[in-house]
Order: sequence, then structure tokens, then C-alpha cells
Amino acid sequence: MRKLQGVHLATDLQEADETLEPLGPDALDLSRDDLATTLSHHRGRLKTTLTDQSVIAGLGNLLADEICWRARINPLRPARDLDAAEITGLHRATRRVLRDSVKAERVPPRKTWLTGARDTPGPTCPRCGTPLESRRLSGRRTVWCPTCQPAAL
Ligand SMILES: [Zn+2]
Repeated sequence: MRKLQGVHLATDLQEADETLEPLGPDALDLSRDDLATTLSHHRGRLKTTLTDQSVIAGLGNLLADEICWRARINPLRPARDLDAAEITGLHRATRRVLRDSVKAERVPPRKTWLTGARDTPGPTCPRCGTPLESRRLSGRRTVWCPTCQPAAL
């Protein structure tokens, strides 16, 4: 069973700061260069790095998969191996997916999004029709398109 950490209620600003201290910067506040610096310090997989709340706060399992799919980057690649153009694309995809998700108050399961396809029977990529691949990573299912998001360049 998946367990969430909990809900914290701070009584003042100092307590709020202390509660938020272990978290990385909010994903929506991260500049392109902040993202580049962050990723360059992590040799772990991109997906694992993006969903580590102490590195970047706010990206969950669905969001991270959606962002990688939108940016056409394989989520299993080492975070620090992304080139400058890929980081720019990843940053753009992060902002776009987050803005749309905040507006929809969830990761919207649209037919044109990975999220709308991933839980269908025999799921295929909404962009190219290739059957989606998946595997468990840190206890969560990671989904990607092997055509749009090849394993290595
Ligand atoms: Zn595809």
C-alpha cells in the first residue's frame, strides 16, 4: 500500500518555514537554469530525480511521466546526462503541464495526454500510436513511449 506522509498545520510563519525546509524549490518557481543545475548534480534516473520532493517540490508520479513524455525524454535516463536542448524542452514541458494541471485541479486525463492513455487496456501513445512501455520504479509505475522517448540518443 502506498502511504502519504501526512498533512501539517503550522501555527505561524516560522513553523511553516520549518515544515517546508526539507523540500526543494517549488517546480513552478524553478528557472530553466535552476533546473539545469539541479539535474547536473543527480546521477540517478530522471524520473526518480523529478519526483524526489527534497530536490524539486510538487511533481508526483503522473506529472513526472507526463512531463517526460511531453518533452520526449526517456524517464529512465540519468538526470545529469540531458543536453542543453533537452533541459530547455523539459523546463517548457514542466511549466505547460503544471499550468494546465493547476487549472484543471488534477492531471487531466485528456486523450491527447499520456495520462489519458496510460490506464486504458493495451495503452498506446496518443502522439504516435506505439504501445506504451512501463515498469516499476521506486514502487510506482513509470510509463513511456519507446518511440517518442528512446532509451538513449
Ligand atoms: Zn509515441
